[in-house]
Amino acid sequence: MVAQTQAHPPHVTEVKEKIDFILDKMKDSFPEKAVVTAGMPYANGPVHIGHLAGTHVPADIYSSFLKLLIGNENVLFVCGTDDHGSTSEVAAKKVGKSTREFIDEIHSRQAQTMKSYGIDLDVYTGTSREENYETHKEICQDFLRDLYKNERLDKRTSLQWFDEKASMFLPDRYVTGTCPKCEAPGAYSEECDSCGANYEAKELKEPISSVTQTTPELKETDHWYLNMWKATDQLCEWLEGNQKTWRKNLLTEVLGTVRTTFIFSNTHEDSYKEIKEDLPEHKSRYAPGKKVALTFKCLNDLEKASQELKARGFDIELLDAWAHRSITRDVSWAIPVPEEIDETMKGKTLYVWPESLIAPISFSKLALKNKGKDPQDSDLYWKNPKAGRYQFLGQDNIFFYVLMQGSMWLGTQKDPKRLPVAGEYQMTDIFSNYHLQINGAKMSKSKGNFFTGDQLIAPKEDGGMGYHPDQIRYFLSILSLTEKNSNFDEEILKERNKFLAGPLNAAFEKPISACHSKFKGQIPEGDLIGKTAKETQKIIPNYIKMMKKGDYAKILFAIENYARVINGLFSVYKPHDDRGDDKERADALYSCFYILKNVMIMLSPFAPVTMEKLRISLNLPEESLSLKELGVPLMPGHTIHEQSDYFPAVSE
Ligand SMILES: [Zn+2]
Repeated sequence: MVAQTQAHPPHVTEVKEKIDFILDKMKDSFPEKAVVTAGMPYANGPVHIGHLAGTHVPADIYSSFLKLLIGNENVLFVCGTDDHGSTSEVAAKKVGKSTREFIDEIHSRQAQTMKSYGIDLDVYTGTSREENYETHKEICQDFLRDLYKNERLDKRTSLQWFDEKASMFLPDRYVTGTCPKCEAPGAYSEECDSCGANYEAKELKEPISSVTQTTPELKETDHWYLNMWKATDQLCEWLEGNQKTWRKNLLTEVLGTVRTTFIFSNTHEDSYKEIKEDLPEHKSRYAPGKKVALTFKCLNDLEKASQELKARGFDIELLDAWAHRSITRDVSWAIPVPEEIDETMKGKTLYVWPESLIAPISFSKLALKNKGKDPQDSDLYWKNPKAGRYQFLGQDNIFFYVLMQGSMWLGTQKDPKRLPVAGEYQMTDIFSNYHLQINGAKMSKSKGNFFTGDQLIAPKEDGGMGYHPDQIRYFLSILSLTEKNSNFDEEILKERNKFLAGPLNAAFEKPISACHSKFKGQIPEGDLIGKTAKETQKIIPNYIKMMKKGDYAKILFAIENYARVINGLFSVYKPHDDRGDDKERADALYSCFYILKNVMIMLSPFAPVTMEKLRISLNLPEESLSLKELGVPLMPGHTIHEQSDYFPAVSE
């Protein structure tokens, strides 16, 4: 008898085999190990809804999905505060605190907010924190050494404000004066907020140092510029290989920047047309300023064409402004450059942008150490071609995460003129998100539509907005931030929350309630009935495909429809009504629990707290949160627990 109640009907086994067959075919595209990271918040303020929407929530969902896919033990999810540079220093000065004290306070508040939202990080540290700093500094300095050795650092001299009294170079934001164009006070070193003008620092009138209130002077200073131009061929090759997996808008933007291009005056257009066919393969277009732009497949082709045209008197100008960025600063609160490379660079520090690109590597080491593993195992994630690296960030930062990071990674290789091999830093997959607007406008403190993460979930009686973190996570996931700027509209959020508390909760509650009232709290023997098998076989591969791409909105819509099958089964077969056909009622309830378990697994990355409640109601072990468990039914005779409060009710 026992053996009989333990067996699943042949039909269920058949469906599971079909699912496993599809999953097996997809397996080659699963990473062996994965590290997920999200744009690091500056250590100068709280985590706000923009951070959560654009980076931390989508990254957490991705990391949870990967854990379902390849197991908790193979996924690292790391983040921390971006501590260095003038931003945190200025913010600390403003409130009269030491930089350390200020950063520590911000950090612990940010970490608490992440936790409240169920952002399940393996480590939330910071670039300057004691537990991480030494390792991080070492990695940063190694990067500089390798880049130097591979001739990817060009030393250039520029003019920088110097405060004699404080005996320090001043970051641009430390200097204000009168705008040379509109005479407005409070203009910055190279730009005026009043009239929007850009100008050279030496044009600023009556400059004042905000450190000592004295007049600063412009002094020459040397800095290293990262040469990304030399990496263009490899960057193109890498990016073109991502056509199938990356978001189109992101690729279009970075490829538009990185493809090697020069321009010349359109007065040469006729003679260009004469020799066009003899030049290496290229695309031509008109460019602003009465120019013609030619884009080539690789640096070599561009150089050949450039020589050819120069010999004919063309005024060739490279479009390479993007490819030379200064990556050192005269700021003291930062990582010092390794002195032994170049003595004249003593006292210079690494700019915070490249520093923050490197930071997730030391974060990974720390996460491994905290798990009692060898920090050196971080190579299994960062330098292993079979592992995956996934970075979530805001759309306006893609230049840094794609082109600067790509160039830096390539620049550390033994041979930087090819893509990385095993044992070298592997390229990272990028997931960028557009901006979140609040109730139709750009988020701004002065307009009063700036929400911190804490404010949204604090109880109403404490002046908060009283949302449940799962409601916010779910809502942020259905916005199309991957495609365009989207709006955080409280009315639409309310509608969505009504749906969660209504039809979706009903899909959880109906089977559980019917099971307790009519089936003694035990899963009946049964078979898959109605659309159950067909819809299950359809949604599981779709789920994996869309989740891998980070297409959360589309898959949530599909999961919601799948959950509706439960409501459908209830209206047709009425398992809660014992006047109906017993066999059909048992089949329907069996099918409902089959769907419910699949829904629980698939929604767990989006609404972890609520799905945990559902898991407890279903009396399933933690291990059931795995993609391997998709399509595995609850055993007939399995006892479930009581119903719980799932998504919160919405008051009118
Ligand atoms: Zn102005």
